[in-house]
Formats: sequence, structure tokens, C-alpha cells
Amino acid sequence: MRQILLFFSILFSSFVSPMSATAADPKTDSTSQWAIVLHGGAGAPPADATAKQLQVRRDGLSAALTAGRNVLATGGSSLDAVEATIRVLEDNSLFNAGHGAVFNSAGEHELDASIMDGRTLAGGGVAGVRTVRNPITLARRVMTETPHVLLSGPGAETFATEQNVDRVPNDAFSTEQRRAEWEKVKAKETAENARRDQPARPWQIGTVGCVALDAAGNIAAGTSTGGRTNKKYGRVGDSPIIGAGTYADNATCGISASGVGEQFIRHAAAAQISLLMQHREWSLQQAADYVLKERLRPGDGGIIGLDRSGKVVWVFTTPGMYRGAADSSGRFDIRIGNE
Ligand code: ASP
Repeated sequence: MRQILLFFSILFSSFVSPMSATAADPKTDSTSQWAIVLHGGAGAPPADATAKQLQVRRDGLSAALTAGRNVLATGGSSLDAVEATIRVLEDNSLFNAGHGAVFNSAGEHELDASIMDGRTLAGGGVAGVRTVRNPITLARRVMTETPHVLLSGPGAETFATEQNVDRVPNDAFSTEQRRAEWEKVKAKETAENARRDQPARPWQIGTVGCVALDAAGNIAAGTSTGGRTNKKYGRVGDSPIIGAGTYADNATCGISASGVGEQFIRHAAAAQISLLMQHREWSLQQAADYVLKERLRPGDGGIIGLDRSGKVVWVFTTPGMYRGAADSSGRFDIRIGNE
């Protein structure tokens, strides 16, 4: 009896597994049962970073990748993997999301996040939240517990209370490092009379994101950020906006972006990559190269993504990007800068 059940379960899984779904697809050049890719922001470490400072960033990415990989390797969903990965990065003060978020022009923190389910095209986002410890979790609740896609400001805070998610005072997100960066940016921007709409600078990096494909063939993507250093109060970037900083569609790919949010919004960057794949039948690499290198400006940022076969892509026009990937073939790969 057990053998008969095993036979049917193998037969069934061969119909639904992403490997069989993509095996006949000539547009894909690799297959993985599951795969995951993450980022800790587009940008390179400062030139004077010590080996120890670089190592703690690698370790931070590695801990987050391990959390997501463990979800997928034990048969969990891509949504669970994305949320688990991003929560680890939000709790790590080295990255510009959750604890360690950058300061806005009022010397406070306003956090943005979103998540998308490539199976259903459902999405959820929160913008300008001030006391939510893990904005990615609240974004997921917007997706699953409301008929809406994006909640902002005080309304999102009220929703956080209703959902009973972890809360912290706004200054719990502060770190001395981020305060020093803010002082530096404030002084420089006043001195230069700089417009906000400028290429990403090294001290503005650290947004986090993750894209995963699970063994059932479902893609999910998510992004979380404190935004840009010294941003105007109330400013919302691309990270909480479905189609700009985050996108997922099982038919094409999942994307998470980092960089000058205004540019990713103007170009609907994440959705544009997916649409180029869908309508022009481009590969993820071709579509991402086109959007980052032909549509956006040099230095605007970068994306991570994977397609429905589990092929991972990262493209950035900044001097580097903090990133990593793992998959069911045993890959576990962390990169920083332009490695
Ligand atoms: N894209 C983010 C924003 O504009 C910032 C970043 O990725 O560094 O809010």
C-alpha cells in the first residue's frame, strides 16, 4: 500500500513540480526545485572598510539567507521564505530596514515595505510606519487580511495595533552609525544645495529584499527599507509599491529593487522587467539589463530576481550590491561590492 502511495505521489509531483514545468522551455537554461536570492542594498562598502566590517556584513547576509533557505528546504512556501529572510535583515542594524533604518529630515524613521505573491498576484505594502518592528510582516498582513494593497502612516499604525504585530518606539530603530551618516548628508546637501533626485550615494544604501521560488513552483518577492537618508517627512519610495520596488508573477519572475526609489517608481521598474519577459519573451537577464542600463540612469541602483526555473539574476549600476543566493542544488553564495 505504501509503495502504491509513493508511486502516485511521485507521479503527481512530476506534474506539478517546477522542474517538469520548465524542462521543455527552451528559454530557460537552468532548473532548480527551489531557489532564493536576497539583497542588502545596491552600493559598495566604503573604500576604508576593514576586513572585519566586511565580514560582519557577509555574516548578516548569510544568516538571513540561511533562514530563507531552511524554509524552502523543508518544503515551506516562497512567501514564508521571503518574510523569514527579510525579518532577519530588518533586525540586523547593519542594514537600512527596521533596526538600523536611516534618518529622515526630521531626525526620525519612516519605514516602507511590500510583499507579493506570484501565484495570485496578490500584494501588500506599508508606507511611512514608525513603530512596527518588522514592516515586512505588516505588509504581508495587508495582503492577507485586507482587501487593499497599500496602507500608509497613521492608518497603517492602527492596523498594526489591530494585528498585534511587534511594536517598538521610533528611536529603537536608531543607531549611532546612521545618525553620523545623516549629519554628513545634511551638511553636504545644504552645502551643495543638492536636489533629492540624485544617484544613490554610498551612505544611503542598505535596503533589503528577497525573492524565492518554492518547490511547488510559486514565486514571492519582498522589499523593506528605511528609505533614503534625510528624505523629506512623508516621502514614500519604491520599496512599498508593487510594480516599482517589488514584483512577482509565477509566469515570469520575481524582483526586488534597491536604489533611487523615485526612478524605480517612474519606470515601474520591477513590473517592467516582468512585462518585457511576458510580451517580448526576453529572458530575465535581458529584461533586467535593459531596464537598469537603458531606462534608468547609471548609478540609480540594482535589482535581484529569479525566473520560474529558479535562475537567479542580479544587475546593478552602482559600484556594487550586497547580495546572495541559495538553491536546491547546494548553491550558497554571498557577494558584496562588485564580486
Ligand atoms: N529604494 C529605496 C528608496 O528609495 C532606498 C534604497 O534602496 O537604498 O526608498
